[in-house]
Amino acid sequence: MVNDPQIGHACGVFGVYAPGQAVAHLTYLGLYALQHRGQESAGIAVSDGQTITVSKDMGLVTQVFDERRLAPLDGHLAIGHVRYSTTGSSSWRNAQPVYRSVADAGFALGHNGNLTNTVELAERLGMLPGIEPGNIGLDSTTDSALVAELIAHEYATVSRSDGRDLEQALLAVLPHLAGGFSFVLMDEAHLIGVRDPHGFWPLVLGRVEGGWVLASETAALDIVGAHFVREVEPGEMIVIDASGMHDQRFAEADPKLCLFEFVYFARPDTNLYGHSVHAARQRMGEELARQAPVDADMVMPIPESGIPAAQGYARAAGIPYGDGLVKNRYVGRTFIQPNQKQRGQGVRLKLNPLPENIRGKKLVVVDDSIVRGTTTKQVVQMLREAGAAEVHFRVSSPPYRWPCSYGMDTGSRSELLAADLSVGEIRDFLGVDSLAYLELDRLTTATGASADSFCTACLSGHYPVPVPISDSKLALEIDAPASPASPASR
Ligand code: AMP
Repeated sequence: MVNDPQIGHACGVFGVYAPGQAVAHLTYLGLYALQHRGQESAGIAVSDGQTITVSKDMGLVTQVFDERRLAPLDGHLAIGHVRYSTTGSSSWRNAQPVYRSVADAGFALGHNGNLTNTVELAERLGMLPGIEPGNIGLDSTTDSALVAELIAHEYATVSRSDGRDLEQALLAVLPHLAGGFSFVLMDEAHLIGVRDPHGFWPLVLGRVEGGWVLASETAALDIVGAHFVREVEPGEMIVIDASGMHDQRFAEADPKLCLFEFVYFARPDTNLYGHSVHAARQRMGEELARQAPVDADMVMPIPESGIPAAQGYARAAGIPYGDGLVKNRYVGRTFIQPNQKQRGQGVRLKLNPLPENIRGKKLVVVDDSIVRGTTTKQVVQMLREAGAAEVHFRVSSPPYRWPCSYGMDTGSRSELLAADLSVGEIRDFLGVDSLAYLELDRLTTATGASADSFCTACLSGHYPVPVPISDSKLALEIDAPASPASPASR
């Protein structure tokens, strides 16, 4: 059963087709480079031309895979996935790649994104021949499993002389999907990359010795020694097999890359739309300094997400840049922990103030975003306790007010600090002397890409793909209004 059609996942995907190369090891490295996109589970599927073997588990890439586990993953073609999830089921059966066997063949799928029409898809699946309504036979609660099931039904019916035809099966299914999807798929002989018509989530194509690579981010190409060829276009499918690479379009492109990839999610050493994410984040900080100047002694980042913007702010404002917090390198993104209690504990573990740098100073504190406010409130409190004279908080993106329905799972509307609070109320809630958020047009200008090539739904409420009204994430809880008096609700 599809228990929760809105389980979101802004994950990381990787694929490689390279006969003669240690493809499982390359995939391991690729996933390691994409670890920031998901820490909940990791998985690799490999084909040796005859058999697909899948290995996946809960945990970080290095916790799931070691030499012993990689050694038997022999083949010339592989896909990999790291999964991020803050809500919904966090369990082994939701780890990817998802595998389906169909008669004498099989395929594996890794999905970055979230579909918005899972109810229709589930109905469609229930109506397909051979399937009893109400028993659609899914073994997982994710929308990815639903897609795999739809593909499996087409895959069972299309075959050609050299085997089943995953490409044709996909062409039959893809036009029915709505929402965000960057897929990597494979059967025994083909590697396939697909991006939804809006290209909500990044996916790039690279060349590696002896073959081809697909990855969520360009940084993963660098790390496996591949060079960037191009982005997979929105609405495009790329197929790689023994005869080389070919591409085809399954929908018109209407590019709407997630703007939050530029703000927070992507690695700074990744390029999006041909622009360096790190340089864009510095420009966001410069814009912020011009938009919201303040008299201060030091500009400091919330590490690590606020570093480039704080550098840009300091440069543009002519105020010295300094460190006020030390980050424990071995603690991951606290935000990603599956429940609020764990997230709260994580903040103290992760960041510790440097009182000698802070005491008596008027600080500009820069971060890329405030989502639930949990981390930020605690950090401000720590800075005050360490003796800061003034705390002027600057955020290099607009207030995060609207839940993402395409795959960035930052929780429901009632969990978002800015959902129903004014900037002044947020300032009071955080306990800062002043607060400013970067304006949306300044943010898009700072990316270097055209403003209409982004999805800004979380910041503007304009959803490029209709979101079901029934989406519970959009509702504000009437019983427990988000207000400064009820921070525990976040
Ligand atoms: P909070 O104050 O709890 O909203 O946390 C703010 C921090 O969360 C900022 O440092 C952001 O960089 C970070 N953040 C923003 N979006 C996400 C996300 N999708 N996953 C994890 N952390 C995030």
